[in-house]
Amino acid sequence: MTRPVTACIDTNALSHNLSRVRQLAPGSRIMAIVKADAYGHGLLHCCQALNTADAFGLLDLDDAIALRKAGFRQRICLLEGFFTADELADIAQHEIEPVIHSSWQLDLLEAASPDLNFSVWVKVDTGMNRLGFTRHEYSRAMQRLTAMKCIDRASILSHLANADLPENPGTRNQLEQFRAATTADHNNEKSLANSAAILAHSDCHMDWVRPGIMLYGSSPFSDKTARDLDLRPTMSLRSEIIAIRNLQKGDAVGYGSTWVCPEAMAIGVVACGYGDGYPRHAPSGTPVSIAGRRSIIVGRVSMDMITVDLRNIEDAKVGTPVELWGRDVPVDQVAALSGTISYELLCGVTARVKREVMPDG
Ligand SMILES: *Cc1c(COP(=O)(O)O)cnc(C)c1O
Repeated sequence: MTRPVTACIDTNALSHNLSRVRQLAPGSRIMAIVKADAYGHGLLHCCQALNTADAFGLLDLDDAIALRKAGFRQRICLLEGFFTADELADIAQHEIEPVIHSSWQLDLLEAASPDLNFSVWVKVDTGMNRLGFTRHEYSRAMQRLTAMKCIDRASILSHLANADLPENPGTRNQLEQFRAATTADHNNEKSLANSAAILAHSDCHMDWVRPGIMLYGSSPFSDKTARDLDLRPTMSLRSEIIAIRNLQKGDAVGYGSTWVCPEAMAIGVVACGYGDGYPRHAPSGTPVSIAGRRSIIVGRVSMDMITVDLRNIEDAKVGTPVELWGRDVPVDQVAALSGTISYELLCGVTARVKREVMPDG
């Protein structure tokens, strides 16, 4: 027997969610965002399930090369580009497309060996004020790229800061900034939309959409569930009850004794804690599913364990399965109760949690 905590990855759900992107943005090509080990799901099997995507977007050159070695022929974009000049040979050799966001990267491209060729994505900052050329710097950057013999193709992207807030005027402003900056670049492919904009701002779809979180079955909006959006959960974090305690009224459970039994009650100890990526800030009352029935966690989340209320689950025993999030308990709900977002929970599942891919192969 091994410790029972497992992240089950549903590849059919991934494919379904990708088909939702196709339905929503039928005129756009899809760059499936698989950064952070495919939002914690595991890179290679997710890319297999997302194989009809037109491109993959991620951060690490090693991951991009691993995709090439596994036989993926799609375009692959490095969303933060390259970090040092010594990456350029591998980038060119494996036909990987770096984002160019700063003039120091243009300096390195101009100094690169003349037998290397690149397709790149130029990032324009339209209001996030993080990565990208400002509108003022952008035309000079494009001039420099156009003058370089090593550049085969320059596509253009920007990133939205507020697309998850459909009423926020920021998205309209960023769209206008993007159009104004790139008005002369008729022949370059353009991309602006993340998941929230794919779902809520069809005027941002353009040539390429870049879905991340929606592929993993989570809603980018606080007021709409994944189910409302016909997105299916792709990860179920599961474990089992490893001990049961029958406690008396007034007994306290766990660190800080934050849960005091209001009556005589059974508590289940579940093998999953913040050392596995379950959020320590999840309060008493956060839902769990015990053999398909809703219950709640009680007391503080510890590194390796949580404790759950068994008052309405009389037949619970050692070995009874518990879902922490997934099909029965939306990850968005656990995230909201813990003061964070699903992105952080999904990519925070730690290395000691085994990933089980369903259906097999
Ligand atoms: C992470 C990321 C995305 C995907 O964002 P979601 O909100 O997960 O859809 C898209 N574009 C870029 C540049 C990103 O870094």
